[in-house]
Formats: sequence, structure tokens, C-alpha cells
Amino acid sequence: MRVHVKANECQGHGTCVMVCPEVFSADDQGFAVIENAEVPAALEDTVRRAESQCPERAIEIDD
Ligand code: SF4
Repeated sequence: MRVHVKANECQGHGTCVMVCPEVFSADDQGFAVIENAEVPAALEDTVRRAESQCPERAIEIDD
């Protein structure tokens, strides 16, 4: 599973960083940065939760 953030839609709420800091971090303006686009199996459920909670629907998952 791979994940990426649509930079033009991310508004920097930081929800994804709080839900899964192993995969998402924030740049110095609070916008999401992907630390690991190839999601380890153990983190897949957590990344799906982050995707579902992003208020801007800015997170995309490729299964
Ligand atoms: S939750 Fe969505 S809008 Fe907020 S920082 Fe993460 S990707 Fe961006």
C-alpha cells in the first residue's frame, strides 16, 4: 500500500500527523509531508484511519 498527500488540497490541520506520526509529519507551515510513502503492513489500518479523518480528503491511498 502506498499513500500520498495532494499538496493543493492539504490545509495543514495536522490530523494525519496526530493519527500516524510514523508516516505523516508536518513541514514548518503545518502542511503534511509523507515520511514513508510505502506503508508498512503494520501501519496500514492506521493510515486508513488518517485518510478517513482528513477534513480536506487530501490523502490518497493506492492499494
Ligand atoms: S489531515 Fe489532511 S489537511 Fe490535515 S495536514 Fe493531514 S493531509 Fe493535510
